[in-house]
Amino acid sequence: MFGVVKIGGAEGNSLKPLLSELARRAQGGEKWLLVHGASGIMDRFCRERDIQIRMVTSPTGYRSRFVGERERAVFEEAAMAYGAVIKEELDSFGVKSEQIHPAETRSVSAKRKDVLRESTNGRIRLVRGNYSGTVTSVDAGTILKRTADGVIPILPPLGFDAESGLAVNIDGDRLAAAAAGAIEADMLIILSNVPGLMKDLHAPDSLIRNGSMANWETLECYAQGNMKRKMVACREALEAGVPKVFLADGRVENPIAGALRGDATCLVH
Ligand code: ADP
Repeated sequence: MFGVVKIGGAEGNSLKPLLSELARRAQGGEKWLLVHGASGIMDRFCRERDIQIRMVTSPTGYRSRFVGERERAVFEEAAMAYGAVIKEELDSFGVKSEQIHPAETRSVSAKRKDVLRESTNGRIRLVRGNYSGTVTSVDAGTILKRTADGVIPILPPLGFDAESGLAVNIDGDRLAAAAAGAIEADMLIILSNVPGLMKDLHAPDSLIRNGSMANWETLECYAQGNMKRKMVACREALEAGVPKVFLADGRVENPIAGALRGDATCLVH
């Protein structure tokens, strides 16, 4: 079994249930790649350093963080700091892991998006000087070399942008999708602070348990806010050949087992 699991970085996601399960699975011989977010720690660093957080909503309704030069450096620091917390926890469970920095390993490439389109009150404005980007490729070799040695590689939401020579922040879900495709993983599990894709966010029994590319438009209609981007990542993973993608709850004990048992949204091609 070769899996990719993504854990969100927002407050409300818990690391411990996933990491203890991951450690047990790795000790049992399973191979896993861990991709993480960094939004919660980034928000904390910004508050501590008096950096104003600026969110931009695109004309198509996707919300993203504006990342100026200073914010980029802070984001890189925040992402690596969060990965270090994850590594320390895995160490404490007795399992080997390694943080993979894209600028040092050229493992993840990205293209910086200098100009963001912002939609406010029906008008579109261009916001320049942005330093976040989109993943363009993942080098499978860097990851497979580690997993072959029984190490859990930890990927931060960063990609190396060759043009600027900098590590820019990228969406962790879409990175996980690209990585799962590149290493030909058996599955991708995206954990967050909800049970999966819900028909109604306020009704716990409205979890959608199964979906496929055939009914994608219907599925997408239910996704609002951040879930819209998660659905893009799920589609990208399926299109990249990943057989199964799960959207599942990361706050429960044994979140991977829960997803595999059916307490999740399971998406197939
Ligand atoms: P993370 O930071 O863990 O990656 P996000 O906050 O980006 O997670 O995305 C999960 C959020 O998506 C949920 O907390 C929820 O508020 C929102 N959401 C919007 N629509 C839905 C939906 N139909 N089903 C589940 N979550 C949804």
